[in-house]
Amino acid sequence: MSELRRIHNFINGEKRPSEADETLMIANPATGEAIAETPLGARPDVAAAVEAAARAFPEWRRTPPEERIQHLFRLKQLLEDHCDDLARSITIENGKTFTEARAEMRRSIENVEVACGIPTLMQGYNLEDVARGIDEIMIRQPLGVVAAVTPFNFPVMVPMWFLPYAVACGNTFVLKPSERVPVSVELLCDLVNRAGFPPGVVNVVNGGKPAVDAILDHPAVRAVSFVGSTPVARYIYSRGAAEGKRVQCQGGAKNHVVILPDADLDMTTQIVADSAFGCAGQRCLAVSTAITVGEAREPFRNALLDAAASIRVGFGLDEGVQMGPVITPESRLRIEAQIDRGLSAGARLLLDGRGARIEGREGGNFITPTVLDDVSPGNAIADTELFGPVLSLVHADDVDEALDILGRSRYGNAASIFTSSGAAARKFRYEAPAGNIGVNIGVAAPMAYFPFSGWKDSFLGVLHGQGRDAVEFYTDKKVVIERWPKEWSRRF
Ligand code: NAD
Repeated sequence: MSELRRIHNFINGEKRPSEADETLMIANPATGEAIAETPLGARPDVAAAVEAAARAFPEWRRTPPEERIQHLFRLKQLLEDHCDDLARSITIENGKTFTEARAEMRRSIENVEVACGIPTLMQGYNLEDVARGIDEIMIRQPLGVVAAVTPFNFPVMVPMWFLPYAVACGNTFVLKPSERVPVSVELLCDLVNRAGFPPGVVNVVNGGKPAVDAILDHPAVRAVSFVGSTPVARYIYSRGAAEGKRVQCQGGAKNHVVILPDADLDMTTQIVADSAFGCAGQRCLAVSTAITVGEAREPFRNALLDAAASIRVGFGLDEGVQMGPVITPESRLRIEAQIDRGLSAGARLLLDGRGARIEGREGGNFITPTVLDDVSPGNAIADTELFGPVLSLVHADDVDEALDILGRSRYGNAASIFTSSGAAARKFRYEAPAGNIGVNIGVAAPMAYFPFSGWKDSFLGVLHGQGRDAVEFYTDKKVVIERWPKEWSRRF
């Protein structure tokens, strides 16, 4: 039996074996076939990466922004040229379909494009004569070494919510990707190298919790960005802040859509089905609860059931497959147990995806689309993030009742309304307690030039990822007040 490929770290511009003895075997979620093993590195690996980043920082911050972004322009082109290679790798290690993986790559590239605007985005402001002969200037400067800790569900895109902005602003960067999907990031590192970033500007350390702790404890790390589940977000936010770091943490989600009787039924059904079951429900913006209002109940339920039952599930590289597996056998068991829990608490099963077997892919972690009805707000799973292809249906008599259901959720990542009424849409936009709002949009994912605005338990921090918020997060403001007395100019 051939030995499994071991993932390398990327430190100081080169691939380096980890010092860790412990590893995690990772498998293709659609076939069960072993792909590679992730070293579960810890303090020595993190120390080497942070030290490389700290050494690279003084020269990188002095590099003019215009020169820094030339590396990003080259990276963008390399990502375009290798888009399909990376997408294929994402499908193999994460399970989403090739089409979904390509969409992930588009969003990754978009963030590089936006960060190329840093010579404009990073500008400060100034005012002459704040008092007679005194001028005041606000300058933005990079922080130093910054780090990101990312989840399994977008192996390339989530790291790219942070990397381009961090380095464009003049910081040096350490990434700790999810130990469950390290392969695509390894490919990404090859492209970073080919884009000509100086050694140490971008570094990657593989590992789990001990590696994260080493990042949080390292005094040279000035800021930490995190995306993952809410309990871990809370842990990283509090421990990072206790160490005096700037921290932004995007957490879990439980997203609602509200469907009014005047919505376009065909369009709504198609979009909601894609939102609930796309990426096997493993998107932080996936809809997990659909609230039908008034007479929308029956027609939407029937149309949705047809759409869900017709989704072709399998290995995302196979022709015609529309939905892949969940990430691990443990995830599958966890999601199935949550469905059981919801049923015991009174939900009604309309479509059952538990115990799914896909012909020819018996080793995969498949759950086919599952639909539960009558999931009352008091149901044990009503406010639990399932992170699988499960849609709960709830009914409300009017928009106020629907908004009340949303308001009870501890999460606030996204919420959408489907309607042809401008007044209802405006009311929803105004009152819905979530940070990313969709109006006739199922996955309200902000473009890279807008902040990814989770609220409540879906986000801890002040400044969000992407766009102008990213520039604020990755820079310190320095205010300079200058007096140059008029008399001194007579010396020349
Ligand atoms: P996770 O929280 O298990 O892991 C995320 C990262 O944290 C990984 O790199 C992991 O190694 C690390 N980690 C895990 N446990 C840790 C611990 N105890 N201490 C320190 N570090 C730890 O999340 P996941 O399962 O990889 O991803 C799914 C979750 O991510 C879902 O909850 C989903 O909603 C969330 N997510 C949120 C967003 C968003 O924008 N809000 C986007 C994508 C995913």
